[in-house]
Amino acid sequence: MLSRRDLFAAAAASPLFAQTSAPAGAFTLPKLPYAFDALEPHIDAKTMEIHHDRHHAAYVAGLNTAVAKYPEWGKRPIEEIMRLLSSVPEDVRTAVRNMGGGHINHTFFWQVMKKDGGGEPKGELAAAIDKKFSSYSQFTDAFTKAATGVFGSGWAWLVKLPDGSVDIQSTPNQDNPWMAAKATPLIGIDVWEHAYYLKHQNRRADYVKEWWNVVNWDFASEQFAK
Ligand code: MN
Repeated sequence: MLSRRDLFAAAAASPLFAQTSAPAGAFTLPKLPYAFDALEPHIDAKTMEIHHDRHHAAYVAGLNTAVAKYPEWGKRPIEEIMRLLSSVPEDVRTAVRNMGGGHINHTFFWQVMKKDGGGEPKGELAAAIDKKFSSYSQFTDAFTKAATGVFGSGWAWLVKLPDGSVDIQSTPNQDNPWMAAKATPLIGIDVWEHAYYLKHQNRRADYVKEWWNVVNWDFASEQFAK
């Protein structure tokens, strides 16, 4: 039985995960908007490096492979592809769902976090959260419950609905709120083990608790204002 660390090492050695071997294609890995160690001590540099350079890179490579046969789909923004998933050619739809979902989710996730983040939302977003959840602390309790409660791998989200209200959603695997026509994500947390295993091992609740210290509420407010 391989240890978790061995599995990471194996992944690192695998051509599938090597950024340099990713096929050139329609989609590219966005640069992390801060240094790997920017979120220390809450999220460790090694996790950020592997998560971005290997996991996210693998989703981009997989998405490029999936759309290689259908160049017209490679020209669409990834958000549009998620919204139109049921129209993606059937033979690559599952790959686009998983790899495209991984690409958009991680691109979003890097922006949801920042150095010296945390605190509380302000302005209209704070008002919408209070209206739905009564208070910020009741919101974080409910969101934490959703994040820790995801069975297996997935995500928890705060979303804006078409009527301007906010709600919490959780999605399995790399599914996301863009797939559900009208929801707009404001924040989202990756609760796949690869997001926290190096530092927290199986203690997902510890990771979620620390994650609140890096949330970029300015970014969330910008999404809310759209
Ligand atoms: Mn991830």
